[in-house]
Order: sequence, then C-alpha cells, then structure tokens
Amino acid sequence: MRALVKAQAAPGLWMCEVPRPTPDSGEVLIKVLRTGICGTDLHIYGWDEWARQHVPVPLTVGHEFVGEVVEVGAGVSGPTVGDLVSGEGHVVCGTCRNCRAGRRHLCAHTDSVGLTRAGAFAEYLVLPAGNVWQHKAGIDLDVAAIFDPFGNAVHTALAFPVLGEDVLVTGAGPIGLMAVAVVRHAGARHVVVTDTNSYRLDLAMKMGATRAIDPTETSIADAQAGLGMVEGFDVGLEMSGSGAALREMVDNMTHGGRIALLGLPSGPVSLDLSTVVLNSLVLTGIYGREMFETWYAMSVLVSQGLDITAAITHRFPSSEYEQAFATARGGRCGKVILDWAP
Ligand code: NAD
Ligand code: ZN
Repeated sequence: MRALVKAQAAPGLWMCEVPRPTPDSGEVLIKVLRTGICGTDLHIYGWDEWARQHVPVPLTVGHEFVGEVVEVGAGVSGPTVGDLVSGEGHVVCGTCRNCRAGRRHLCAHTDSVGLTRAGAFAEYLVLPAGNVWQHKAGIDLDVAAIFDPFGNAVHTALAFPVLGEDVLVTGAGPIGLMAVAVVRHAGARHVVVTDTNSYRLDLAMKMGATRAIDPTETSIADAQAGLGMVEGFDVGLEMSGSGAALREMVDNMTHGGRIALLGLPSGPVSLDLSTVVLNSLVLTGIYGREMFETWYAMSVLVSQGLDITAAITHRFPSSEYEQAFATARGGRCGKVILDWAP
C-alpha cells in the first residue's frame, strides 16, 4: 500500500510502498479515505528539535483521518465491516490509576498514532477497536476527517460554561477557528479572536466571531471597549502557544475569569503571576480529547447543525502531498485535507 513515511532522519516525507497491516486480536483494519494535516505533521516534516527527539524512523505519519472498516480481528464485537469511522489517536495503557478510574484522557503512558506508532497517512490503518469512533450517517467526509483536532477544540471550548459569557480566543489556527464556532453554538455573547494572520482573522469572522483583531494593530482592551464590555472576558481559550498572547489574555480577563490552555509553547513562557493571584484567575491545561465524552459531544453538535466547514479551506489528492504541506506551512489556510482515493 502507499504510505507517507518519515523514511530518513532529515527534513521531508516520502510516499513509499509498505506492507498492508493486518488486524490482530482486538484490532480493526481501516481503509483510509481522507486525512487532515496537523501542526505536528509539519514539525515531523521539518524535522525540528522536537521531532528529532520524539519520532522514530522509519514511521508512517498522520493521525487525523476518516475511513471505512474493512476487516476486524478476533474478539471484536464492534465496530463492524462497512462502518464509517475516525479514531482516537491516543492509545492508552489501560492499567494506570487514571485509566482504571475511567479518566483515560489523563493516561500518562499513551502511544500516539502517527507519532510513536504507525499513522493514518496511508491507504490502510490498524487501530484497537476501542479507539474507533463510528460516525452518524450523512456526515461530511472532510468534517469526519478532522474529528481529532475538532475534539481539541470542543474539549477546550467546553472546559468552562460559556452560555451568555464573553469569550476571548487567542490564535485562529484550525483549532481556534473551530472553537469559535463551538462557543458561538453553545451560546456565548461576544467572541473576540486574535491572530497576527489576516487570512485567518477573515476566517474567524466566517466562523462566527464578533470581532477578529490583530493584537499588534488593535489592543484587546480597545476591542473590549468597542463592544461596551467593562469588566473583562469571562472565559479565555489560548490556542496559539504564544507567550505574548497568554500575557495579553491574562491582562484582559474579568476577576475570577477562567482560562483553558490548549496552545503548546515551544519553550518556557514568562507570566506575571501576581495578576493571576490578585484577579483570582483559573488556568487549566487541556490535552487531547476526553474518551469518549468529547467524541460523543462532537457527533451530537455536528448532527444538531454546528457547521465547521468554513475552517476547511484546501483539499489535495494524497499524491500532491508536497503542495498540501507547503500550503499548510504557509499559513494562508485553515485545515488542509488529503484525499486517499486511488
Ligand atoms: P496553528 O499553529 O495553525 O495556529 C496557531 C495560530 O496562532 C496561528 O494562526 C498563529 O498566527 C497564531 N498566533 C501566533 N502568535 C500569536 C499571538 N501573539 N496572538 C494571537 N495569535 C497568534 O495551530 P492549531 O493547529 O490551530 O493548534 C493550536 C495550538 O494548539 C498549537 O499551539 C498546537 O501546538 C496546540 N495543540 C495542542 C493540543 C493539545 O492536546 N494540547 C493538540 C493539538 C494542538
Ligand atoms: Zn493509562
């Protein structure tokens, strides 16, 4: 089968012929239909310090996918052949304290699809049956392909109640964009989005933002004043990984405001903690998706009319992966999809 492989410890990815995997007991074989390119895949392509430290070579990469179950291993009672599925890319240990307590998203021993085990940028993928999510009939295939990052967005956006609240989203990458649609759907009042990329600020408005600003041109305080807000944001969703964005967020929260941190900084971030203390702010880290409450919420939200399609801006056949990766790297895009149809 064809697969996009980190075949050498050097920048790049290579389309290779590799053996089609077979499902072991408790596993399913999925024919991959479409995949999404994630920032993690860009790091692996670029072979930066982080990738060099974490990714074994050779490895088939990619973890955002939708596909069809074509074979099930021994002992699998569901899903069944023909199901349209995506999958949770964090394969948990099942034996640590958190796993045994049902808090699988807090497992400290996860194996990751496309990072530490064979990934989804391939014609076929094997996954434990327990990691598979069956889609509702009629779902858009591109939306289904990005359930993994959509799950990051939903997990973060719903970390705190947003009904009637004013929400600040820093970073309008694909995940920030989807989070805008989620908090809007969930009844937030004002949703202010910041990014330094004008293409993405335009997308943020399409996703339902009240205001989308470049913080190097317009201060968040000015945006608040323009909306008649006087006490600061109730909820903050940090989705850029930028220390500057986090500091601006902390400075613009209401007393007792709540911040969910999804963005991954590339190094240590400095922060005036006295503002956090004196303003009684709550900060929480968000990793991955809840298994499988977030997945349940995603399916319900989409079937109830939440539309995230504007966050998907580019589609390429998998053979044109170089162009797809260049587009994703360039930043004048939302989500970039690879189609694995032959
Ligand atoms: P992305 O890199 O495409 O988007 C980040 C956006 O932040 C970009 O559009 C960038 O222009 C913007 N930005 C940079 N500096 C800014 C600033 N000072 N103010 C406002 N915006 C700024 O990433 P994504 O795929 O949308 O993911 C969002 C973040 O979440 C990334 O940091 C990613 O590493 C992280 N992430 C975390 C998890 C998790 O489980 N915690 C999972 C996936 C991704
Ligand atoms: Zn565990």
